[in-house]
Amino acid sequence: MNDRPRVVLADSLASEGVAILEADGRLQVDDCSSQSRSELERALVGAAGLIVRSGTQADARLFAVGESLEVVGRAGVGLDNVDVEAATRSGIAVMNAPAGNTVSTAELAFALLLSAARRIPAADQSLRAGHWDRKAFRGAQLSGKTLGVIGAGRIGAEVIQRARAFGMKVVVADPYMTEERARDLYVELMDLDDMLPVVDFVTLHVPLTEETKGLLDADRIGLLRPHAVLVNASRGGIVDEDALASALREGRLAAAALDVYAIEPLPADHPLREAPNLVLTPHLGAATHDAQREVAIEIAAAVRAALLERDFSAAVNMPPYDPDDRDRLRPVLDLAERLGAVLGEVAQGGIAEVTVRYGGEVHRGLRLISSAVLIGLWKGRLDSSPNLINALPLARERGISVSRSRVGEVTGYRGMLEVSALAGGEVHVVSGGLESDGGLRLLRIDGYHVEVEPRGHLLLFRNRDAPGVVGEVGTRLAAAGVKISEFHQARDPQTGESLAVLSLDEALGSDVLADLRSLPAVLYARAVRLDG
Ligand code: NAD
Repeated sequence: MNDRPRVVLADSLASEGVAILEADGRLQVDDCSSQSRSELERALVGAAGLIVRSGTQADARLFAVGESLEVVGRAGVGLDNVDVEAATRSGIAVMNAPAGNTVSTAELAFALLLSAARRIPAADQSLRAGHWDRKAFRGAQLSGKTLGVIGAGRIGAEVIQRARAFGMKVVVADPYMTEERARDLYVELMDLDDMLPVVDFVTLHVPLTEETKGLLDADRIGLLRPHAVLVNASRGGIVDEDALASALREGRLAAAALDVYAIEPLPADHPLREAPNLVLTPHLGAATHDAQREVAIEIAAAVRAALLERDFSAAVNMPPYDPDDRDRLRPVLDLAERLGAVLGEVAQGGIAEVTVRYGGEVHRGLRLISSAVLIGLWKGRLDSSPNLINALPLARERGISVSRSRVGEVTGYRGMLEVSALAGGEVHVVSGGLESDGGLRLLRIDGYHVEVEPRGHLLLFRNRDAPGVVGEVGTRLAAAGVKISEFHQARDPQTGESLAVLSLDEALGSDVLADLRSLPAVLYARAVRLDG
């Protein structure tokens, strides 16, 4: 049997991307781009990765068939054809390739700006129709003019560079941009409504969100001066198309150019098709060989890193963390999962609340740490196996509130983690530490100080103080042939009860556990399997 992870290509992927997946032979690539939907579904059985472009709807049905899928990659930025929510519920990481088509899209926006400013498409049409009309196509020069950029992320920044090369002054409206970044790009930050009346050209590079939907509505289009030129190569729905068509028809705006539309393909009878001084392209931003190659490389590298190196930092549905923290986060997540597993044994019954408190050198990643606690807590108890992607949504679905906080100074350890759960009206607490050499320690259980390494198999038992209990437990374990590698017992003088944690070399059989539970002084005896 071939156990190399298999990646299914649902749509064709540029060969440079395929080469990355196939490099060193640790992944198998299954190209289903020319196959039917049912063949694709068959191929997904047992596959670890799926890569789509825009031709395939990656939906709940595909994720149900692809039970072993760990990652879905979209070669491109938009995730319109990937049901991210369904993927998250199934614990599948969703990745896209946001950077690969940045330059091509910025270049298209610039081409549109020049085309609209110089009326190139209309002049071309007129010439082909047999005319030689130079007066009708008098346009505007870019140099010396002011360009307003709405949204200066990846693409906006590339447009800004090109505008500066053309001798334009650039102002930016982007509420999430820092003054520092604006200084780096040599632009002035402005409020959108203050910016629109002073620019000669305006170009949009924002994502389509609740906030940006209809951002350039009739009122804002009305703020532009009559000689202004508007370009949108971001997403449809951000500029009010009817208001734009009216402004062009009524000469309240000199020209415009669009690459994206509220409805794509643009309906045949859409008023934009009749509007004057308007350049239209059919969503061509990323339509270059270069961009397709770049996105294929970007997504293939991300999917490969996820499947071979467990690096899910490119996932859009994964709790955020600082990629620089990845190596430091790994042992913390390991500790979190182990403490969660111990907590799951200590807190019996339905859990209503989970609290995670962490202090240490990892600064971003509390959500991931909380997810790891839940994975440990549910290990072997849920039908589906939760992972770092679906653990928090799953908790929400199950009505479990998860709160998390950071604790300040940590001394003696690289990181300290305290996890607690409210179950059956009682709060149970487990805490542990990450040592400077990477070692893990289980430090407290419900107020008892215990110090063992949370690995392998643990036996927790709580007993009333009575002579000979520990000796009796030891004898019975020895009789069952179970070796103890670490033992720690803590006493609560107030209650007269003790809690012991034993680290065992192998799993305890249920008969041995039942035998221990039958000892009169033993309040509970529970086994926790932490590895394997
Ligand atoms: P990005 O996330 O790097 O940048 C988006 C910027 O918009 C950010 O700086 C953000 O702060 C800013 N922003 C968010 N809300 C805003 C608001 N209300 N007002 C002003 N600014 C706001 O994204 P990007 O990669 O630069 O892509 C920009 C747009 O281009 C996206 O909509 C993307 O889908 C689109 N795009 C289109 C094509 C195409 O074929 N035409 C290709 C690629 C990307």
